[in-house]
Amino acid sequence: MERFAIIGFGAAGYAALKAIRECGSDAQIDIYSDHDYAPYNPMLTTYYIKGAIPYEAMFPFGSLEDIAAKYDCAIYKNTEVEDLKASPLSITTGDGEARCYDKVLIATGAAPVLLPVGDIPAEKLYTMRTVDDARRLKEAFDSGAIRKILVIGASWVGIKVVEAAWARGIECVMADMAEQIFATSAFEGASIKCEEYLAEEGIDSRFGVKATGGRIGENGRCQVIFSDGSETEVDAIAVCVGIRPAASFADSTIARDKAIIVDNNMKTSAEGVYAAGDVAEGIDMMTGRTRHIGLWANSATQGRCAGLAMAGREEPTEGNILHNITHFLNYNFISFGDKDAEGERRVLVDEGSRYIEILHRDGKLYCINMLGDYELSGAVKNCIIKYFSKGTAELNELELGVIAKSGLPNELIRILGGMVK
Ligand SMILES: Cc1cc2nc3c(=O)[nH]c(=O)nc-3n(C[C@H](O)[C@H](O)[C@H](O)COP(=O)(O)OP(=O)(O)OC[C@H]3O[C@@H](n4cnc5c(N)ncnc54)[C@H](O)[C@@H]3O)c2cc1C
Repeated sequence: MERFAIIGFGAAGYAALKAIRECGSDAQIDIYSDHDYAPYNPMLTTYYIKGAIPYEAMFPFGSLEDIAAKYDCAIYKNTEVEDLKASPLSITTGDGEARCYDKVLIATGAAPVLLPVGDIPAEKLYTMRTVDDARRLKEAFDSGAIRKILVIGASWVGIKVVEAAWARGIECVMADMAEQIFATSAFEGASIKCEEYLAEEGIDSRFGVKATGGRIGENGRCQVIFSDGSETEVDAIAVCVGIRPAASFADSTIARDKAIIVDNNMKTSAEGVYAAGDVAEGIDMMTGRTRHIGLWANSATQGRCAGLAMAGREEPTEGNILHNITHFLNYNFISFGDKDAEGERRVLVDEGSRYIEILHRDGKLYCINMLGDYELSGAVKNCIIKYFSKGTAELNELELGVIAKSGLPNELIRILGGMVK
């Protein structure tokens, strides 16, 4: 009987387990998780803090006991893998135990980067990724100890923390070294609209600034100084400045860039070793090159693909495109594709809160920003993915229906597939 190990049990690890069993494989499967929670969805952490969902909703796949029984696997909880050797293929856990496997999936996701803020002590600093992160910030909000919070990082994680605080009536300052919000995915025009909207909602946003100093004042609050000389006084600081793929334990001979490089079957450069989810760098279908695209659905798709391949049924993924769909403070920012790609940019809609800007080249859409057109995002994304995977964007009836009644500009509809007259 073959022996498989899955390291890390989030969306990618769970999808892999399910796929292995769906294939009918009777391999022994050992799962290693460095905590004792069931697999959870990090995207939902801020919804829990906000009070929009109950605690249990963060765990979409059920309890560890139910999963172990359903998929016949051994789950080693609170067991961190500290070393993965590629040859012979073996792992060593924190308790010094070493085991050999035929195939191993690395599905350890990513960890938030925690930068120091002057002399502010750790108990005033928060990150947002794990269930523990969510519980900690929610408890602090519930206790009433946080009346004002500084969120460092104007990314999709930062803005979701801002939203959770705003929804609870907690004053917010958001600061970023970048000159604009959503700097990696938004064109300037879309950023400006989002920033204006946040200002109307009472968020104090500061861009192009770095927190250069911080200390606890006599009143016990955090006094933070920014690089432009401005200051703020808050009760807590959420540091949302990015993530680092959790791959330091993996054999250094396994090829990596920002994350572990995989092919379309999620195979790494080492025989028998696969990687999926936020720890992996799969194919960006726009460029054909590998790229880190850290998304929930992408992690599940990659995990499934890895599980199938481990069980001997290769069904290669087509890769993915960059995307960012962020609902915040009752507003929507949607971006598909690479805003830094070469091409011509055109603002197609700029009316009130609605905004659409595209970047296109040779009749192909390389990036689109949309504000206020949330219901269309799936159809638009499917069109872009069809272009790049099949070389055509023939629309299905559902997409045609949605797009036809959407009021999207004709130029965009033409670029999206030319199917709507
Ligand atoms: C606030 C927030 C908002 C987000 N919003 C969106 C969104 O709107 N849309 C979207 O698509 N995505 C969003 N994401 C990203 C999305 O949640 C991730 O892309 C996805 O959950 C990654 O899944 P994963 O299985 O690769 O990693 P994870 O869910 O991180 O799972 C990896 C697991 O491995 C464990 N682990 C790590 N190291 C070890 C080790 N050495 N040994 C054993 N176990 C280990 C970790 O504890 C973890 O449980 C958001 C994330 C956050 C935090």
